[in-house]
Amino acid sequence: MTKIMNGRELANEMRETLAVQVSTLKEEKGITPGLAVIIVGDDPASHSYVRGKQKACEKIGMHSVLHPLSEDASEDELLEAVNQYNHDDQIHGILVQLPLPHHMSEMKVIEQIKPEKDVDGFHPISTGRLMTGQQTFLPCTPNGIMQMLDAYEVPIQGKHAVIIGRSNIVGKPIAQLLLSRDATVTICHSKTKNMKEVTKQADIVIAAVGRPEMVDETYIKEGACVIDVGINRVEDGSLVGDVAYNKVEEKAGWITPVPRGVGPMTITMLLYNTVQSLEWTLQEQK
Ligand code: NDP
Repeated sequence: MTKIMNGRELANEMRETLAVQVSTLKEEKGITPGLAVIIVGDDPASHSYVRGKQKACEKIGMHSVLHPLSEDASEDELLEAVNQYNHDDQIHGILVQLPLPHHMSEMKVIEQIKPEKDVDGFHPISTGRLMTGQQTFLPCTPNGIMQMLDAYEVPIQGKHAVIIGRSNIVGKPIAQLLLSRDATVTICHSKTKNMKEVTKQADIVIAAVGRPEMVDETYIKEGACVIDVGINRVEDGSLVGDVAYNKVEEKAGWITPVPRGVGPMTITMLLYNTVQSLEWTLQEQK
């Protein structure tokens, strides 16, 4: 029978554990983990994501600061805001909500974040450490997926994982994480030929494409684990993933729904990284 991988349930369990950790840090060390979120412009979707992140922080007792900048703010203003939090002892994680307006360089801004506070795990130092197997902040969505695979006891070692999508924030880092757990990994993208032939061999399929319900049952091997990263708003206003859930559900061994799948895990791993950042800072001070 297909196992539905309930990301919301797992995220709630992890957030309860994090709340205990936060209150212990407050009581024993007198310090609260703090996250600064910088957002540029008025995009409603970005503001909604940011509100979700802030609410999640508050719910587990973390300190959070929202730093809005107008759409026409200069790149220098944004770099200065990042720098302010780089030097703020109450802030252990800095997140710049992407995408940024076209007149700003995302990479320049990410590189401005102190690697010790790079809780998104997007800084080249963090990605380099990930590639070379060193301790670092793991990017939130890929790490959330790994947590789900483990929680639902999906075998990874020696299995063939096929990832559709090669973005820096999802496709590439999840490939690296699966490789580090001894999966055989294939990455597909928009130029891949005969993609179904590849995905049909997979024990684990991860769809991170951004195309509503592109992956149907013809892409999937019987019993495979299907992870749907996609979040797409369709004409009737509802949210759907990159996987045609109703068509794939019966064939898959495991499947994540959208919503209540990967999404809640992404925010949870952001909270996790921020608490981790404070823990690492305290260890260094010993
Ligand atoms: P990007 O747009 O950065 O990357 C999409 C990838 O899909 C690219 O590598 C692209 O290939 C590939 N692609 C596009 N069309 C096809 C196709 N027809 N066949 C095969 N590959 C294709 O997206 P992200 O990785 O940032 O996000 C992917 C999805 O995940 C989006 O829906 C996004 O909203 C969602 N998302 C969800 C998160 C969550 O928390 N659940 C977090 C982050 C993202 P190429 O490189 O050749 O262009």
